[in-house]
Amino acid sequence: MPNKRKNRSQTPKFYCPHCEERLWRLGSPKYHLFYQDVSQIKERLGVTRTKASFLAINNSPYVDNYTWLEEFFCEEHGTIWMRVSKQANGVIVATPAKSSDWKCTTHTINPDIPNPSVSEFSYRMSRGTNQQLV
Ligand SMILES: [Zn+2]
Repeated sequence: MPNKRKNRSQTPKFYCPHCEERLWRLGSPKYHLFYQDVSQIKERLGVTRTKASFLAINNSPYVDNYTWLEEFFCEEHGTIWMRVSKQANGVIVATPAKSSDWKCTTHTINPDIPNPSVSEFSYRMSRGTNQQLV
């Protein structure tokens, strides 16, 4: 076939967990997961306790460069946050982001569990701004 287009790019395809239609990347920020302590590192990375201790040795959160939360779009179900994980063999696996995943991120707000104090604050701020402008 002359028109054979071989896609050699490693762009992975993602599918909606609800309808299995193709999901589209929105180019949202990737919120990498990070782990606070040895037991969390051990559990999340599936490494030995010794390895986990080594990774946590500088006592700062361990950032998982291979796992992040990213926003996707399904034509049927709208935007969906997925937990994307690149495995050791290069295969990328995406599963719906859980609240336990959101707890492992920083500077993010779980869209499923809005933080009422933050929303209220923003609301007040925006109202205040509007009133000043009027
Ligand atoms: Zn869908």
